[in-house]
Amino acid sequence: MMNGSRKTGLFFKAFFPTLITVFCSTFFMSRPLLSADFQSARKEMVENQIKRRGIHDKVVLQALLKVPRHLFVETEYLSRAYSDFALPIKENQTISQPYIVALMTQSAMLKADDRVLEIGTGSAYQAAVLAEIVKEVYSIEIVESLARTAEIKFKELGYNNVTVRHGDGYRGWQEKSPFDAILITAATPKIPRPLLDQLKVGGRMVLPLENTGASQKLMVLTRQEDGSLIEKLITGVVFVPMTGEIRQ
Ligand code: SAH
Repeated sequence: MMNGSRKTGLFFKAFFPTLITVFCSTFFMSRPLLSADFQSARKEMVENQIKRRGIHDKVVLQALLKVPRHLFVETEYLSRAYSDFALPIKENQTISQPYIVALMTQSAMLKADDRVLEIGTGSAYQAAVLAEIVKEVYSIEIVESLARTAEIKFKELGYNNVTVRHGDGYRGWQEKSPFDAILITAATPKIPRPLLDQLKVGGRMVLPLENTGASQKLMVLTRQEDGSLIEKLITGVVFVPMTGEIRQ
């Protein structure tokens, strides 16, 4: 027969570690995520997903470390804010994958004094990353509610160097042109001519050009003095389609 203290000893040996594990995991899983958690998740994202996949531009890495991506995703996806995925946002659109945002930003070869145009504001995350790097960002969004939400977000987060406009980005933003760089963050069936005309000589356009299949070619086009383009293929990507006039 076991005496009482041996029984208690056995209980502690056998079950106590399990109890502690269950308690800890329940506690940590159910507590609300803190800003420090997001900050360390963001650091890990930059180290393990962005740097490791070949993004080396320090200014781009710094911007990704700074922009709180969790404030640009829908609340049901909060726990995945720093995973390397595109995620659904309102109006059937998406917030781009962090690596692709980094790749497009790096490919645009930005300088602090640049003025940049983005077509497809969406969640506003890419524009916020740009705003960390350059002097002025202009972003056009065709879905009105997304444009309005983005405007509010920029105000709340203190991004005073971003201006959002609701409309079709196909014809660009003549009054603010020419731009040092133009990023199109929706899949285009062809190069939008009016946008090319708003690019400075030496300016870069980064865009996902449609292939025959479901994916697109991420391209960088650099405008030359004589109006011709130097075209560089970066990689294959999948974006939601650019809608509006470009499809006519
Ligand atoms: N840059 C975004 C990704 C947006 S997804 C981000 O960081 O989250 C593409 C966005 O392009 C969608 O919001 C879509 O509504 C918008 N879009 C599609 N066609 C457009 C057009 N012709 N002009 C402006 N925006 C457009």
